Amino acid sequence: MQNLTIYAMHGVVDTLDINCLCHRTMHDRTLFANHLAKRPKKYVTINDALNGRGDALTIDDATVAAKEAALLARSHGHEVSLFANPYNVVLQKSYFFHQINMLLDSTTATSIAVSGVSLPSITLSEKVKVKKKIKEQYCRLSMEGERSLLVAELAAQLGVTNVPLPRFLATLSTEDLTYLRKQGVAIENHGWSHADYSRLSDACVKLEVEDGQQWLMANGFGQNYHFAVPFGHPLPTRHQAFPHCTVWFLENHNIPPGPIGKGIWRQETTAKVWNRTQLVL
Ligand SMILES: [Zn+2]
Repeated sequence: MQNLTIYAMHGVVDTLDINCLCHRTMHDRTLFANHLAKRPKKYVTINDALNGRGDALTIDDATVAAKEAALLARSHGHEVSLFANPYNVVLQKSYFFHQINMLLDSTTATSIAVSGVSLPSITLSEKVKVKKKIKEQYCRLSMEGERSLLVAELAAQLGVTNVPLPRFLATLSTEDLTYLRKQGVAIENHGWSHADYSRLSDACVKLEVEDGQQWLMANGFGQNYHFAVPFGHPLPTRHQAFPHCTVWFLENHNIPPGPIGKGIWRQETTAKVWNRTQLVL
């Protein structure tokens, strides 16, 4: 059982360009399709994987890229789970980090000063630094209005107006998720919103997990009680208890993949914690 792997990915794009920030968490469609076609053993459901019957494939965030990766997996006979945020789905809100990436990919500005970081020329590494700062700033804000303002200010500073997100980053609708469910994709809980849970109080985290799970159940998706924490890093704290979460999934490169054993928190929460592995093709 300890040899099983639960993989995490974010979706596919037609031709992967590593110089494009919007592509950085994505996989190339052709490479992914080849991987699915050639993999000797099919991916199994998360529950089957946890019971030692194979590896599982999970996809985070409710985007078109995620939907297309999930459908590819199904077309090759694999089981797959998609972790979605009802906040984005219900309100048809773009994921803010994709908005930031798109603005930085699209800009022709030669300088910018954001949170003390200046971008004197447009190199990818400088854009990555700016992106990190903006993300930190965004995550500190608790009001949705303040967050929208921050993205609007960034757009103005970068001189990018009226540029839509690429189609593969569009947010899925409830109907899209229902369609995926009918195609055999498990729709799972990525929390109500894609907040930075390490900055939320225990009570807020509990609410985010519960609201996400309750929405899934109310819309016919919620057979499971798996939760993939947004941004992959935060562990549950020792004070949190989760009646709506049996497994808390991470995607944390600093922790070995697999079950997290004998943590002090584990004795005091109802959730098991499992670190997923990034799928590398
Ligand atoms: Zn996510």
